[in-house]
Amino acid sequence: MFHLLNDTSENLELISQQAHALASGALQAPVLDTTATGGLGGSIQRAVARLREALSQQEAFRRQLVHEASHDGLTQLANRSTSLAHLGQAIARSERSGATVAVLFIDLDRFKEINDTQGHHVGDVVLTTVAERLIDAVRAGDHVGRLGGDEFVVIAEPVATMGAAVELAHRIVEIVAAPIDIGDITVRIGASVGVALSGSGELTADEMLRDADLAVYRVKDSGRGGVEVCDEALRSAVAEFSDLTTALRHALAHNELVLHYQAIVDALGDRTIAHEALVRWRRPDGSLVPPAGFIAHAERTGLIIDLDRWVLNAAIRQLVDWQYDDHMRGIPLSVNVSAQHLVDASFVDDVLAPLAHWHVDPSLLIIEVTESAVLDDLATAATKLECLREHGIAVAIDDFGTGFTSITQLRRLPVDILKIDRAYTSRASLDPKDAAIVKLIIDTGHLLGASITAEGVETLDEATLLSALGSDALQGFLYSRPGPPEVLDRSLAAVPEYATADVAAAPPPRR
Ligand code: C2E
Ligand code: MG
Ligand code: MG
Repeated sequence: MFHLLNDTSENLELISQQAHALASGALQAPVLDTTATGGLGGSIQRAVARLREALSQQEAFRRQLVHEASHDGLTQLANRSTSLAHLGQAIARSERSGATVAVLFIDLDRFKEINDTQGHHVGDVVLTTVAERLIDAVRAGDHVGRLGGDEFVVIAEPVATMGAAVELAHRIVEIVAAPIDIGDITVRIGASVGVALSGSGELTADEMLRDADLAVYRVKDSGRGGVEVCDEALRSAVAEFSDLTTALRHALAHNELVLHYQAIVDALGDRTIAHEALVRWRRPDGSLVPPAGFIAHAERTGLIIDLDRWVLNAAIRQLVDWQYDDHMRGIPLSVNVSAQHLVDASFVDDVLAPLAHWHVDPSLLIIEVTESAVLDDLATAATKLECLREHGIAVAIDDFGTGFTSITQLRRLPVDILKIDRAYTSRASLDPKDAAIVKLIIDTGHLLGASITAEGVETLDEATLLSALGSDALQGFLYSRPGPPEVLDRSLAAVPEYATADVAAAPPPRR
Protein backbone atom coordinates (compact mmCIF):
# COMPACT_ATOMS: atom_id res chain seq x y z
CA MET A 1 0.00 0.00 0.00
CA PHE A 2 2.83 2.28 0.99
CA HIS A 3 4.69 1.53 -2.32
CA LEU A 4 1.57 2.07 -4.29
CA LEU A 5 0.95 5.41 -2.65
CA ASN A 6 4.58 6.34 -3.13
CA ASP A 7 4.48 5.41 -6.86
CA THR A 8 1.25 7.31 -7.37
CA SER A 9 2.68 10.36 -5.70
CA GLU A 10 5.88 10.18 -7.83
CA ASN A 11 3.79 9.71 -10.96
CA LEU A 12 1.61 12.68 -10.05
CA GLU A 13 4.77 14.73 -9.55
CA LEU A 14 6.11 13.58 -12.95
CA ILE A 15 2.80 14.33 -14.71
CA SER A 16 2.73 17.74 -13.10
CA GLN A 17 6.29 18.47 -14.35
CA GLN A 18 5.39 17.21 -17.83
CA ALA A 19 2.26 19.37 -17.91
CA HIS A 20 4.35 22.33 -16.82
CA ALA A 21 6.96 21.67 -19.54
CA LEU A 22 4.27 21.39 -22.21
CA ALA A 23 2.46 24.49 -21.01
CA SER A 24 5.63 26.58 -20.98
CA GLY A 25 6.65 25.37 -24.45
CA ALA A 26 9.79 23.57 -23.19
CA LEU A 27 9.23 20.82 -25.73
CA GLN A 28 12.79 19.50 -25.47
CA ALA A 29 12.67 19.07 -21.66
CA PRO A 30 14.02 15.57 -20.69
CA VAL A 31 11.09 15.12 -18.33
CA LEU A 32 8.87 14.65 -21.35
CA ASP A 33 10.82 11.47 -22.24
CA THR A 34 10.27 9.87 -18.82
CA THR A 35 7.52 7.27 -18.62
CA ALA A 36 5.45 7.01 -15.45
CA THR A 37 5.36 3.64 -13.73
CA GLY A 38 2.36 1.45 -13.43
CA GLY A 39 -0.43 0.56 -15.81
CA LEU A 40 -1.33 4.18 -16.61
CA GLY A 41 2.27 5.10 -17.40
CA GLY A 42 2.20 3.92 -21.04
CA SER A 43 -1.02 5.67 -21.97
CA ILE A 44 0.02 8.90 -20.22
CA GLN A 45 3.32 8.81 -22.10
CA ARG A 46 1.49 8.38 -25.44
CA ALA A 47 -0.78 11.31 -24.61
CA VAL A 48 2.25 13.42 -23.70
CA ALA A 49 3.97 12.42 -26.97
CA ARG A 50 0.86 13.37 -29.01
CA LEU A 51 0.56 16.70 -27.24
CA ARG A 52 4.26 17.33 -27.69
CA GLU A 53 4.00 16.58 -31.40
CA ALA A 54 0.97 18.85 -31.86
CA LEU A 55 2.65 21.69 -29.97
CA SER A 56 5.87 21.23 -32.00
CA GLN A 57 3.93 21.53 -35.25
CA GLN A 58 2.14 24.62 -34.00
CA GLU A 59 5.46 26.18 -33.01
CA ALA A 60 7.03 25.35 -36.39
CA PHE A 61 4.03 26.90 -38.14
CA ARG A 62 4.28 30.03 -36.01
CA ARG A 63 7.97 30.35 -36.84
CA GLN A 64 7.21 29.92 -40.53
CA LEU A 65 4.58 32.66 -40.39
CA VAL A 66 7.00 34.99 -38.65
CA HIS A 67 9.66 34.16 -41.25
CA GLU A 68 7.29 34.71 -44.15
CA ALA A 69 6.18 38.03 -42.75
CA SER A 70 9.74 39.21 -42.35
CA HIS A 71 11.42 37.61 -45.36
CA ASP A 72 11.08 37.63 -49.11
CA GLY A 73 9.57 34.39 -50.38
CA LEU A 74 11.76 34.14 -53.49
CA THR A 75 15.24 34.92 -52.24
CA GLN A 76 14.67 34.19 -48.53
CA LEU A 77 16.35 37.51 -47.77
CA ALA A 78 14.98 39.85 -45.11
CA ASN A 79 12.23 42.00 -46.61
CA ARG A 80 11.89 45.77 -46.57
CA SER A 81 10.33 46.16 -43.12
CA THR A 82 12.79 43.73 -41.52
CA SER A 83 15.69 45.49 -43.22
CA LEU A 84 14.46 48.86 -42.02
CA ALA A 85 14.09 47.51 -38.47
CA HIS A 86 17.62 46.09 -38.69
CA LEU A 87 18.90 49.44 -39.92
CA GLY A 88 17.14 51.20 -37.05
CA GLN A 89 18.89 48.96 -34.55
CA ALA A 90 22.24 49.39 -36.32
CA ILE A 91 21.85 53.19 -36.18
CA ALA A 92 21.00 53.02 -32.46
CA ARG A 93 24.08 50.84 -31.84
CA SER A 94 26.29 53.17 -33.86
CA GLU A 95 25.07 56.16 -31.86
CA ARG A 96 26.23 54.45 -28.69
CA SER A 97 29.51 53.10 -30.07
CA GLY A 98 30.43 55.96 -32.38
CA ALA A 99 30.87 53.50 -35.28
CA THR A 100 29.53 54.23 -38.76
CA VAL A 101 26.79 52.31 -40.58
CA ALA A 102 26.73 52.19 -44.37
CA VAL A 103 23.59 51.60 -46.41
CA LEU A 104 24.04 50.40 -49.96
CA PHE A 105 20.93 50.63 -52.12
CA ILE A 106 21.29 48.25 -55.05
CA ASP A 107 19.05 48.64 -58.08
CA LEU A 108 19.45 46.21 -60.96
CA ASP A 109 19.74 47.69 -64.44
CA ARG A 110 17.39 46.57 -67.20
CA PHE A 111 15.82 43.89 -65.01
CA LYS A 112 12.37 44.58 -66.41
CA GLU A 113 13.70 44.04 -69.91
CA ILE A 114 15.05 40.60 -68.93
CA ASN A 115 11.80 39.70 -67.21
CA ASP A 116 9.76 40.80 -70.22
CA THR A 117 11.90 39.23 -72.91
CA GLN A 118 13.15 36.04 -71.19
CA GLY A 119 10.18 35.30 -68.95
CA HIS A 120 9.58 35.40 -65.22
CA HIS A 121 11.35 32.12 -64.61
CA VAL A 122 14.62 33.64 -65.83
CA GLY A 123 13.87 36.81 -63.88
CA ASP A 124 13.44 34.76 -60.69
CA VAL A 125 16.75 32.95 -61.21
CA VAL A 126 18.49 36.30 -61.75
CA LEU A 127 17.07 37.62 -58.48
CA THR A 128 18.03 34.54 -56.44
CA THR A 129 21.51 34.53 -57.99
CA VAL A 130 22.00 38.20 -57.16
CA ALA A 131 20.82 37.49 -53.59
CA GLU A 132 23.39 34.69 -53.22
CA ARG A 133 26.15 36.84 -54.67
CA LEU A 134 25.33 39.69 -52.31
CA ILE A 135 25.51 37.37 -49.31
CA ASP A 136 28.91 36.15 -50.55
CA ALA A 137 30.15 39.71 -51.05
CA VAL A 138 29.48 41.02 -47.55
CA ARG A 139 31.11 40.20 -44.23
CA ALA A 140 29.47 37.87 -41.73
CA GLY A 141 27.18 40.07 -39.66
CA ASP A 142 26.39 42.49 -42.47
CA HIS A 143 22.77 42.52 -43.52
CA VAL A 144 21.41 41.76 -46.98
CA GLY A 145 17.74 42.38 -47.75
CA ARG A 146 15.41 42.63 -50.71
CA LEU A 147 13.42 45.84 -50.71
CA GLY A 148 11.09 44.65 -53.45
CA GLY A 149 11.22 44.13 -57.22
CA ASP A 150 14.82 44.44 -58.37
CA GLU A 151 15.97 46.48 -55.35
CA PHE A 152 18.26 45.11 -52.69
CA VAL A 153 19.93 46.61 -49.65
CA VAL A 154 23.17 45.91 -47.85
CA ILE A 155 23.68 47.30 -44.37
CA ALA A 156 27.34 47.16 -43.42
CA GLU A 157 28.31 47.84 -39.83
CA PRO A 158 30.75 49.14 -38.88
CA VAL A 159 32.53 50.72 -41.87
CA ALA A 160 35.70 52.70 -41.34
CA THR A 161 35.26 55.37 -44.02
CA MET A 162 33.13 56.35 -46.97
CA GLY A 163 35.99 54.98 -49.09
CA ALA A 164 35.49 51.52 -47.61
CA ALA A 165 31.75 51.64 -48.28
CA VAL A 166 32.33 52.77 -51.86
CA GLU A 167 34.84 49.94 -52.32
CA LEU A 168 32.22 47.44 -51.16
CA ALA A 169 29.72 49.04 -53.55
CA HIS A 170 32.13 48.63 -56.48
CA ARG A 171 32.74 45.01 -55.50
CA ILE A 172 28.98 44.46 -55.57
CA VAL A 173 28.66 46.05 -59.03
CA GLU A 174 31.41 43.73 -60.23
CA ILE A 175 30.04 40.48 -58.80
CA VAL A 176 26.50 41.20 -59.94
CA ALA A 177 27.81 41.84 -63.45
CA ALA A 178 29.27 38.32 -63.81
CA PRO A 179 27.31 36.28 -66.38
CA ILE A 180 24.48 34.11 -65.05
CA ASP A 181 23.96 30.77 -66.79
CA ILE A 182 20.36 29.60 -66.84
CA GLY A 183 19.88 26.37 -68.77
CA ASP A 184 21.35 27.07 -72.18
CA ILE A 185 21.12 30.82 -72.01
CA THR A 186 23.46 33.30 -70.37
CA VAL A 187 22.09 36.47 -68.85
CA ARG A 188 24.01 39.55 -67.82
CA ILE A 189 22.65 42.12 -65.46
CA GLY A 190 24.15 45.36 -64.20
CA ALA A 191 23.68 47.11 -60.89
CA SER A 192 23.52 50.72 -59.79
CA VAL A 193 24.51 51.26 -56.19
CA GLY A 194 23.80 54.29 -54.01
CA VAL A 195 25.69 54.68 -50.75
CA ALA A 196 24.71 56.58 -47.62
CA LEU A 197 26.61 56.76 -44.32
CA SER A 198 25.17 57.27 -40.87
CA GLY A 199 28.15 59.50 -40.06
CA SER A 200 26.46 62.87 -39.61
CA GLY A 201 24.00 61.35 -37.12
CA GLU A 202 20.37 62.28 -36.57
CA LEU A 203 19.20 60.29 -39.56
CA THR A 204 16.42 57.74 -39.16
CA ALA A 205 16.46 54.40 -40.96
CA ASP A 206 13.94 55.70 -43.50
CA GLU A 207 16.03 58.81 -44.16
CA MET A 208 19.23 56.82 -44.65
CA LEU A 209 17.51 54.51 -47.09
CA ARG A 210 16.04 57.51 -48.92
CA ASP A 211 19.53 59.07 -49.15
CA ALA A 212 20.97 55.88 -50.62
CA ASP A 213 18.02 55.76 -53.03
CA LEU A 214 18.73 59.36 -54.12
CA ALA A 215 22.28 58.36 -54.90
CA VAL A 216 20.96 55.51 -57.06
CA TYR A 217 18.92 58.05 -58.99
CA ARG A 218 22.10 59.96 -59.64
CA VAL A 219 23.75 56.81 -61.01
CA LYS A 220 20.78 56.18 -63.30
CA ASP A 221 20.82 59.80 -64.42
CA SER A 222 24.40 59.56 -65.51
CA GLY A 223 23.82 56.38 -67.52
CA ARG A 224 23.47 52.92 -66.09
CA GLY A 225 25.78 51.01 -63.82
CA GLY A 226 28.12 52.32 -61.19
CA VAL A 227 28.25 53.81 -57.75
CA GLU A 228 27.25 57.17 -56.32
CA VAL A 229 27.26 58.46 -52.77
CA CYS A 230 24.72 60.67 -51.11
CA ASP A 231 26.58 63.77 -50.00
CA GLU A 232 25.61 67.32 -49.14
CA ALA A 233 25.74 68.39 -52.79
CA LEU A 234 23.23 65.72 -53.71
CA ARG A 235 21.00 66.54 -50.76
CA SER A 236 20.92 70.21 -51.70
CA ALA A 237 20.33 69.35 -55.36
CA VAL A 238 17.36 67.28 -54.26
CA ALA A 239 16.08 70.04 -52.02
CA GLU A 240 16.42 72.45 -54.95
CA PHE A 241 14.59 69.99 -57.17
CA SER A 242 11.71 69.78 -54.77
CA ASP A 243 11.67 73.57 -54.27
CA LEU A 244 11.47 74.04 -58.03
CA THR A 245 8.66 71.48 -58.21
CA THR A 246 6.70 73.35 -55.53
CA ALA A 247 7.32 76.69 -57.24
CA LEU A 248 6.27 75.33 -60.63
CA ARG A 249 3.13 73.82 -59.17
CA HIS A 250 2.41 77.20 -57.62
CA ALA A 251 3.11 78.90 -60.96
CA LEU A 252 0.53 76.72 -62.69
CA ALA A 253 -2.08 77.35 -60.04
CA HIS A 254 -1.45 81.11 -59.85
CA ASN A 255 -1.03 82.06 -63.49
CA GLU A 256 2.65 82.88 -63.35
CA LEU A 257 3.14 81.41 -66.81
CA VAL A 258 2.85 83.70 -69.81
CA LEU A 259 2.84 83.08 -73.52
CA HIS A 260 5.08 84.89 -75.93
CA TYR A 261 4.50 84.69 -79.64
CA GLN A 262 6.87 84.47 -82.57
CA ALA A 263 5.82 85.13 -86.14
CA ILE A 264 6.31 82.52 -88.84
CA VAL A 265 6.55 84.21 -92.23
CA ASP A 266 6.18 83.03 -95.80
CA ALA A 267 9.15 82.21 -97.98
CA LEU A 268 9.29 85.78 -99.25
CA GLY A 269 9.54 87.03 -95.70
CA ASP A 270 6.76 89.53 -96.21
CA ARG A 271 3.69 88.00 -94.64
CA THR A 272 2.99 86.37 -91.31
CA ILE A 273 1.33 83.04 -91.97
CA ALA A 274 1.25 81.78 -88.38
CA HIS A 275 2.51 82.45 -84.87
CA GLU A 276 4.14 80.03 -82.49
CA ALA A 277 3.19 80.24 -78.80
CA LEU A 278 6.26 79.90 -76.55
CA VAL A 279 5.80 79.66 -72.83
CA ARG A 280 7.74 81.70 -70.24
CA TRP A 281 7.59 81.79 -66.48
CA ARG A 282 7.20 85.16 -64.81
CA ARG A 283 8.66 84.50 -61.34
CA PRO A 284 7.28 86.45 -58.40
CA ASP A 285 10.61 88.37 -58.31
CA GLY A 286 9.79 89.72 -61.79
CA SER A 287 12.35 87.63 -63.70
CA LEU A 288 11.26 85.91 -66.89
CA VAL A 289 12.46 82.30 -67.14
CA PRO A 290 12.77 80.77 -70.63
CA PRO A 291 11.46 77.23 -71.25
CA ALA A 292 14.97 75.80 -70.90
CA GLY A 293 14.73 76.69 -67.19
CA PHE A 294 11.64 74.64 -66.42
CA ILE A 295 10.28 72.48 -69.27
CA ALA A 296 12.70 69.62 -68.58
CA HIS A 297 11.85 69.82 -64.90
CA ALA A 298 8.14 69.79 -65.68
CA GLU A 299 8.76 66.69 -67.79
CA ARG A 300 10.63 64.90 -65.01
CA THR A 301 7.93 65.61 -62.46
CA GLY A 302 4.97 64.93 -64.75
CA LEU A 303 3.79 68.53 -64.36
CA ILE A 304 4.29 68.98 -68.09
CA ILE A 305 0.81 67.68 -68.85
CA ASP A 306 -0.80 70.36 -66.69
CA LEU A 307 1.57 72.89 -68.20
CA ASP A 308 0.59 71.85 -71.73
CA ARG A 309 -3.09 72.12 -70.80
CA TRP A 310 -2.51 75.59 -69.43
CA VAL A 311 -0.68 76.60 -72.63
CA LEU A 312 -3.37 75.15 -74.89
CA ASN A 313 -6.07 77.01 -73.04
CA ALA A 314 -4.16 80.30 -72.95
CA ALA A 315 -3.20 80.03 -76.63
CA ILE A 316 -6.75 79.31 -77.72
CA ARG A 317 -7.96 82.17 -75.53
CA GLN A 318 -5.49 84.40 -77.41
CA LEU A 319 -6.95 83.24 -80.72
CA VAL A 320 -10.33 84.48 -79.51
CA ASP A 321 -8.86 87.94 -78.80
CA TRP A 322 -7.19 88.02 -82.20
CA GLN A 323 -10.49 87.42 -83.93
CA TYR A 324 -11.31 91.01 -82.94
CA ASP A 325 -7.97 92.33 -84.25
CA ASP A 326 -7.90 93.22 -87.95
CA HIS A 327 -4.19 92.42 -88.23
CA MET A 328 -4.33 89.09 -86.46
CA ARG A 329 -7.68 87.66 -87.46
CA GLY A 330 -7.46 84.33 -89.24
CA ILE A 331 -3.74 83.76 -88.58
CA PRO A 332 -3.22 80.24 -87.19
CA LEU A 333 -1.38 79.66 -83.93
CA SER A 334 1.10 76.86 -83.39
CA VAL A 335 1.29 75.28 -79.93
CA ASN A 336 3.99 72.92 -78.63
CA VAL A 337 2.96 69.78 -76.81
CA SER A 338 5.29 67.42 -75.00
CA ALA A 339 6.01 63.77 -75.71
CA GLN A 340 4.53 62.77 -72.37
CA HIS A 341 1.29 64.53 -73.13
CA LEU A 342 1.09 62.99 -76.57
CA VAL A 343 1.07 59.46 -75.12
CA ASP A 344 -1.32 60.41 -72.30
CA ALA A 345 -4.90 59.19 -72.67
CA SER A 346 -6.21 62.74 -72.20
CA PHE A 347 -4.24 64.24 -75.07
CA VAL A 348 -6.85 64.50 -77.84
CA ASP A 349 -9.50 65.78 -75.41
CA ASP A 350 -7.07 68.29 -73.93
CA VAL A 351 -6.67 69.80 -77.40
CA LEU A 352 -10.31 69.65 -78.46
CA ALA A 353 -11.94 70.75 -75.20
CA PRO A 354 -10.61 74.35 -75.09
CA LEU A 355 -11.42 74.80 -78.80
CA ALA A 356 -15.00 73.82 -78.09
CA HIS A 357 -15.10 75.88 -74.91
CA TRP A 358 -13.93 79.08 -76.62
CA HIS A 359 -15.76 78.33 -79.89
CA VAL A 360 -12.57 78.58 -81.91
CA ASP A 361 -12.24 77.23 -85.45
CA PRO A 362 -9.92 74.18 -85.16
CA SER A 363 -8.22 75.10 -88.44
CA LEU A 364 -6.66 78.06 -86.58
CA LEU A 365 -4.68 75.65 -84.41
CA ILE A 366 -1.44 73.88 -85.28
CA ILE A 367 -0.11 71.27 -82.86
CA GLU A 368 3.67 70.91 -82.76
CA VAL A 369 5.18 67.66 -81.56
CA THR A 370 8.89 67.02 -81.66
CA GLU A 371 10.30 64.38 -83.92
CA SER A 372 11.63 62.38 -80.95
CA ALA A 373 8.22 62.45 -79.22
CA VAL A 374 6.60 60.91 -82.24
CA LEU A 375 9.26 58.23 -82.58
CA ASP A 376 8.68 56.93 -79.03
CA ASP A 377 5.51 55.18 -80.10
CA LEU A 378 4.85 55.85 -83.73
CA ALA A 379 1.59 53.92 -84.04
CA THR A 380 -0.13 55.59 -81.08
CA ALA A 381 1.19 59.02 -82.04
CA ALA A 382 -0.04 58.57 -85.61
CA THR A 383 -3.54 57.58 -84.48
CA LYS A 384 -3.89 60.54 -82.14
CA LEU A 385 -2.49 63.06 -84.58
CA GLU A 386 -4.73 61.74 -87.33
CA CYS A 387 -7.68 62.22 -85.01
CA LEU A 388 -6.70 65.89 -84.52
CA ARG A 389 -6.39 66.34 -88.27
CA GLU A 390 -9.86 64.92 -88.78
CA HIS A 391 -11.06 67.80 -86.63
CA GLY A 392 -9.27 70.25 -88.91
CA ILE A 393 -6.21 70.85 -86.70
CA ALA A 394 -2.87 70.92 -88.52
CA VAL A 395 0.05 68.84 -87.26
CA ALA A 396 3.66 70.02 -87.32
CA ILE A 397 6.71 67.91 -86.58
CA ASP A 398 9.06 70.15 -84.62
CA ASP A 399 12.86 70.14 -84.47
CA PHE A 400 12.95 67.88 -87.51
CA GLY A 401 16.42 66.53 -88.21
CA THR A 402 17.35 66.07 -84.54
CA GLY A 403 15.80 62.59 -84.42
CA PHE A 404 16.30 59.75 -86.82
CA THR A 405 13.00 59.34 -88.58
CA SER A 406 13.33 57.08 -91.58
CA ILE A 407 11.41 57.90 -94.72
CA THR A 408 9.19 54.88 -94.07
CA GLN A 409 8.33 56.21 -90.61
CA LEU A 410 7.74 59.67 -91.96
CA ARG A 411 5.34 58.24 -94.51
CA ARG A 412 3.23 56.71 -91.73
CA LEU A 413 2.95 60.02 -89.92
CA PRO A 414 -0.01 62.31 -90.46
CA VAL A 415 1.93 65.53 -90.97
CA ASP A 416 1.07 68.91 -92.45
CA ILE A 417 4.22 70.82 -91.59
CA LEU A 418 7.84 69.79 -91.08
CA LYS A 419 9.87 72.28 -89.06
CA ILE A 420 13.56 71.89 -89.80
CA ASP A 421 15.66 72.43 -86.71
CA ARG A 422 18.02 75.35 -86.45
CA ALA A 423 20.90 72.88 -86.09
CA TYR A 424 20.48 72.29 -89.86
CA THR A 425 19.20 75.58 -91.13
CA SER A 426 22.01 77.57 -89.52
CA ARG A 427 24.69 75.37 -91.10
CA ALA A 428 23.12 75.25 -94.53
CA SER A 429 24.55 78.61 -95.55
CA LEU A 430 28.03 77.62 -94.35
CA ASP A 431 28.50 74.18 -95.83
CA PRO A 432 27.19 72.89 -99.18
CA LYS A 433 26.82 69.39 -97.70
CA ASP A 434 24.49 70.73 -95.02
CA ALA A 435 22.63 72.65 -97.69
CA ALA A 436 22.21 69.39 -99.60
CA ILE A 437 20.80 67.67 -96.51
CA VAL A 438 18.34 70.51 -95.97
CA LYS A 439 17.32 70.27 -99.62
CA LEU A 440 16.80 66.53 -99.20
CA ILE A 441 14.59 67.06 -96.14
CA ILE A 442 12.60 69.73 -97.97
CA ASP A 443 12.10 67.59 -101.07
CA THR A 444 11.12 64.53 -99.00
CA GLY A 445 8.69 66.59 -96.95
CA HIS A 446 7.13 68.00 -100.13
CA LEU A 447 6.87 64.54 -101.62
CA LEU A 448 4.85 63.47 -98.59
CA GLY A 449 2.59 66.48 -98.94
CA ALA A 450 4.01 68.50 -96.04
CA SER A 451 4.83 72.16 -96.05
CA ILE A 452 8.29 73.11 -94.77
CA THR A 453 9.19 75.69 -92.14
CA ALA A 454 12.84 76.55 -91.55
CA GLU A 455 13.45 77.35 -87.86
CA GLY A 456 15.98 79.71 -86.34
CA VAL A 457 16.53 81.99 -89.32
CA GLU A 458 18.81 84.78 -88.14
CA THR A 459 20.36 86.30 -91.24
CA LEU A 460 19.21 87.39 -94.66
CA ASP A 461 21.74 84.99 -96.22
CA GLU A 462 20.17 82.08 -94.39
CA ALA A 463 16.69 83.21 -95.39
CA THR A 464 17.65 83.59 -99.04
CA LEU A 465 19.24 80.18 -99.20
CA LEU A 466 16.44 78.40 -97.32
CA SER A 467 13.84 79.94 -99.60
CA ALA A 468 15.84 78.95 -102.64
CA LEU A 469 16.09 75.40 -101.31
CA GLY A 470 12.31 75.27 -101.20
CA SER A 471 11.26 76.24 -97.66
CA ASP A 472 7.65 77.33 -97.59
CA ALA A 473 7.96 79.30 -94.38
CA LEU A 474 10.66 80.91 -92.27
CA GLN A 475 10.83 81.49 -88.54
CA GLY A 476 13.56 83.24 -86.64
CA PHE A 477 14.96 86.31 -84.99
CA LEU A 478 15.47 87.89 -88.44
CA TYR A 479 11.70 88.40 -88.62
CA SER A 480 10.50 88.38 -85.07
CA ARG A 481 11.76 87.69 -81.59
CA PRO A 482 9.21 85.94 -79.40
CA GLY A 483 7.34 88.57 -77.39
CA PRO A 484 4.08 89.30 -75.63
CA PRO A 485 1.09 89.92 -77.93
CA GLU A 486 1.21 93.70 -77.52
CA VAL A 487 4.74 94.01 -78.97
CA LEU A 488 4.18 91.74 -81.98
CA ASP A 489 5.14 93.37 -85.24
CA ARG A 490 1.87 93.83 -87.10
CA SER A 491 3.39 95.18 -90.29
CA LEU A 492 4.03 91.70 -91.69
CA ALA A 493 0.68 90.46 -90.56
CA ALA A 494 -1.02 93.34 -92.36
CA VAL A 495 0.13 92.36 -95.85
CA PRO A 496 -2.95 90.98 -97.58
CA GLU A 497 -3.15 87.91 -99.74
CA TYR A 498 -0.18 85.61 -100.19
CA ALA A 499 0.71 85.40 -103.88
CA THR A 500 1.73 81.87 -104.73
CA ALA A 501 4.99 82.93 -106.31
CA ASP A 502 7.63 80.61 -107.66
CA VAL A 503 9.83 80.76 -104.60
CA ALA A 504 13.11 79.86 -106.25
CA ALA A 505 12.58 82.61 -108.80
CA ALA A 506 11.24 85.07 -106.27
CA PRO A 507 13.22 88.05 -105.07
CA PRO A 508 15.23 87.44 -101.89
CA PRO A 509 13.19 87.60 -98.69
CA ARG A 510 12.90 91.04 -97.20
CA ARG A 511 13.49 92.05 -93.67
P1 C2E B 1 10.82 75.10 -80.29
O1 C2E B 1 9.40 74.69 -80.26
O2 C2E B 1 11.67 74.53 -81.35
O3 C2E B 1 10.80 76.67 -80.33
C1 C2E B 1 11.71 77.42 -81.02
C2 C2E B 1 12.76 77.95 -80.12
O4 C2E B 1 13.77 78.55 -80.88
C3 C2E B 1 12.25 79.03 -79.17
O5 C2E B 1 13.00 78.96 -77.98
C4 C2E B 1 12.60 80.28 -79.92
O6 C2E B 1 12.75 81.42 -79.08
C5 C2E B 1 13.94 79.90 -80.50
N1 C2E B 1 14.23 80.67 -81.68
C6 C2E B 1 13.36 81.19 -82.56
N2 C2E B 1 14.01 81.81 -83.55
C7 C2E B 1 15.32 81.70 -83.29
C8 C2E B 1 16.51 82.16 -83.95
O7 C2E B 1 16.48 82.81 -84.97
N3 C2E B 1 17.70 81.83 -83.39
C9 C2E B 1 17.77 81.10 -82.25
N4 C2E B 1 18.98 80.82 -81.77
N5 C2E B 1 16.68 80.65 -81.60
C10 C2E B 1 15.46 80.95 -82.12
P2 C2E B 1 12.32 78.97 -76.59
O8 C2E B 1 11.15 79.89 -76.56
O9 C2E B 1 13.40 79.15 -75.60
O10 C2E B 1 11.72 77.50 -76.51
C11 C2E B 1 12.56 76.40 -76.46
C12 C2E B 1 11.79 75.13 -76.56
O11 C2E B 1 10.96 74.95 -75.41
C13 C2E B 1 10.83 75.08 -77.72
O12 C2E B 1 11.51 74.77 -78.88
C14 C2E B 1 9.90 74.00 -77.27
O13 C2E B 1 10.45 72.73 -77.52
C15 C2E B 1 9.84 74.22 -75.79
N6 C2E B 1 8.63 74.98 -75.49
C16 C2E B 1 8.41 76.30 -75.60
N7 C2E B 1 7.16 76.59 -75.26
C17 C2E B 1 6.55 75.42 -74.94
C18 C2E B 1 5.24 75.07 -74.51
O14 C2E B 1 4.34 75.89 -74.40
N8 C2E B 1 4.99 73.75 -74.24
C19 C2E B 1 5.94 72.80 -74.40
N9 C2E B 1 5.64 71.53 -74.12
N10 C2E B 1 7.19 73.10 -74.81
C20 C2E B 1 7.49 74.39 -75.09
MG1 MG C 1 8.06 74.49 -81.58
MG1 MG D 1 11.72 73.70 -82.97
